[in-house]
Amino acid sequence: MKSNTLVIAHRGASGYLPEHTLPAKALAYGQGADYLEQDLVATRDDRVIVSHDIHLDRVTDVAVRFPGRVREDGRFYARDLDLEEIRTLNVTERVDAKGNAVFPGRFPAGSGQFRVHTFEEELSMIQGLNTASGRQVGIYPEIKAPAWHHQEGVDLSALTLGILETFGYRARGDNVFLQCFDRDETFRIRSDLQSDLKLIQLIADPSWNESGSDYAAMLTRDGLGDLAGFVDGIGPWLNQLYELQAVDGCPVSTGIAAHAQAAGLAVHPYTFRADALPPGFGDFDALMRFFVEELRVDGLFTDFPDKTAAFLRG
Ligand code: CA
Repeated sequence: MKSNTLVIAHRGASGYLPEHTLPAKALAYGQGADYLEQDLVATRDDRVIVSHDIHLDRVTDVAVRFPGRVREDGRFYARDLDLEEIRTLNVTERVDAKGNAVFPGRFPAGSGQFRVHTFEEELSMIQGLNTASGRQVGIYPEIKAPAWHHQEGVDLSALTLGILETFGYRARGDNVFLQCFDRDETFRIRSDLQSDLKLIQLIADPSWNESGSDYAAMLTRDGLGDLAGFVDGIGPWLNQLYELQAVDGCPVSTGIAAHAQAAGLAVHPYTFRADALPPGFGDFDALMRFFVEELRVDGLFTDFPDKTAAFLRG
């Protein structure tokens, strides 16, 4: 099939290489992604690095390298190391609290030589690839845990907007979506920080305690209408957009995607994983086909940009 639905590389080609490493980003670029995602957190010296969590212990050897930096909760925070210290860590495939690989079929946990990089370094690489290829692949940065960063005395959104400005991303038409789970921060980026960039409000499941935002309210028609006043789209959990019919177990829309689009919002659900299918779908193509042909979503956050691009572009 041919579709204009966007291929958004979730943490890079994270189905193949450790998430958020530059090799994973370069691979996603080569696999045909339209946008590459960057999760952003701040270091002790107020540098912005690309990493999924405020913690470093599930994706690096920080506990071995800097054992004295542990906090009372047993976790190691990027905020407690300077950038030059973080650069010495080895990045590996993600493990859980017990040290087991979260996705056992992926790149072997504990092997390979990979490094954490800064947001600027990734933007330089993507812009260089765009120059070399003639393509215009976009970026999709996420402000992680903004309330926590404010408590830590750092304005991550302001730092991020400054870097984006330096790299030429400043207007609504530029090739960037800026995303955040925290509604107060998304609103602040548009109002107080006066950003004109395309904004995406991420929507979590309420049980995850992702932020203080009321996600159930956001998914109502009134909530979506409220969001449309200051963001350009939503990034819902894909499970929020469908349900399984009691009679035959077939997936049907919850109506949320259509309500969002009727309010003028783009819909970019997460996360499409060929090796972790949600209930009701027998294979990855069936999953993508339902979201693209039935729900008509505008973009897919995928761990497998090659499979998603092949499906969408035929
Ligand atoms: Ca993210």
